[in-house]
Amino acid sequence: MSAVESMTAEKNSPTTSVEHSAWVDQFSANNYAPLPVVIARGEGCWVEDVEGKKYLDMLSAYSAVNFGHSHPEIVEAFVEQAKRLTLTSRAFQNDQFGPFCKEITELCGQDRVLPMNTGAEAVETALKTARKWGYQVKGVAPDEAEIICCEGNFHGRTITVISFSRDPQFKDGFGPFTPGFKVVPYGDAKAFEAAITPNTVGFLVEPVQGEGGIVVPPNGYLTEVRRICTEQNVLFIADEVQSGLGRTGKLFACDHENVKPDVLILGKALGGGMMPVSAVLASNEVMGVFKPGDHGSTFGGNPLGCAVARVAMRILIRDKLSERAAELGEPLMDRLRELNSPMVKEVRGRGLFIGIELHDSAGGAKKLCKQLKDEGMLCKETVENVIRLAPPLIIEQKDLDWAFERIARVLCP
Ligand SMILES: *Cc1c(COP(=O)(O)O)cnc(C)c1O
Repeated sequence: MSAVESMTAEKNSPTTSVEHSAWVDQFSANNYAPLPVVIARGEGCWVEDVEGKKYLDMLSAYSAVNFGHSHPEIVEAFVEQAKRLTLTSRAFQNDQFGPFCKEITELCGQDRVLPMNTGAEAVETALKTARKWGYQVKGVAPDEAEIICCEGNFHGRTITVISFSRDPQFKDGFGPFTPGFKVVPYGDAKAFEAAITPNTVGFLVEPVQGEGGIVVPPNGYLTEVRRICTEQNVLFIADEVQSGLGRTGKLFACDHENVKPDVLILGKALGGGMMPVSAVLASNEVMGVFKPGDHGSTFGGNPLGCAVARVAMRILIRDKLSERAAELGEPLMDRLRELNSPMVKEVRGRGLFIGIELHDSAGGAKKLCKQLKDEGMLCKETVENVIRLAPPLIIEQKDLDWAFERIARVLCP
């Protein structure tokens, strides 16, 4: 018996979904309201619950499982590295970190990388980078730096990040908040430009908003943002934690307008669905503001995470997963529109990053996600009225067809 098997076989430990949920209800903080499914294993796009029922995963852990569950090559890299070396801290060097840095900077077309673990940590790191750049390079007076963000944003859950959050629930009871942020409407380059002052050091933006409801900005928005940032000497900080690494049908969502941000934030899929690996990338000038001791992370740049990220990046390029997301995603959106479901207000997205916005009369996205779950397909609402479809990028056409049938049944009963 393996270690995992013997742990799950322990006396009194739960076996059914209902028993598992009871333990979670009793012993876990109540900060999530998951769909009632207890997953025990996964392979590719499919997962299986503790009762052995199979589901198609159309959420991919918010795009962290872009390579599918337990991708054999990523598992192999993970196991090999886990046996060899997992953590040194950055008090010492490790032999995965240098290659990781070279490969990720080449992939992203940036000079330098600062590795962290979670997306929120990388966002915090990007904000710190922009502030320090503002003081050291732009010449902003001490403690006066401002960063502009967008309505409808999602950048994580730390206190600083929720200080400019869209959702009152994310903030309620967590104040006082971090000052120095301004919020402007998303997709409105003029509003952004109007909000800039001599103290503005950065503009933090998702090139496609994910948690905000899969919101694609108007054509030309990112180009305008790039132009304004350059003219006004403000750092363009792109949060591609969810939209990056192939999800939208290009390597980065910024590539749809051929713009390069000054600061690029990655996470989620970078860890191959196995390790929390996030990163901030920037030019020599911008990343050059850090000196030893300014910032750090015990696990950031750990050899296990680096090994997994390296193989994940290799698979992404070798298997042309960005192209795949475009080829599979655009026709799926067309088919969803052609359903002409009376419940659906709009189908939108890029690549395999798809939002189905419902009319109020549909009774909420949550209810439909439950129905889809009963049909064998897992997805989740983002904002109240949007169903997000974001399957692993390795998904096969036949599985998407299978999903489409279920969606059609639920949206056109
Ligand atoms: C998920 C997400 C984050 C936060 O990532 P965590 O790993 O959950 O901290 C930040 N930005 C965007 C755009 C995200 O989608």
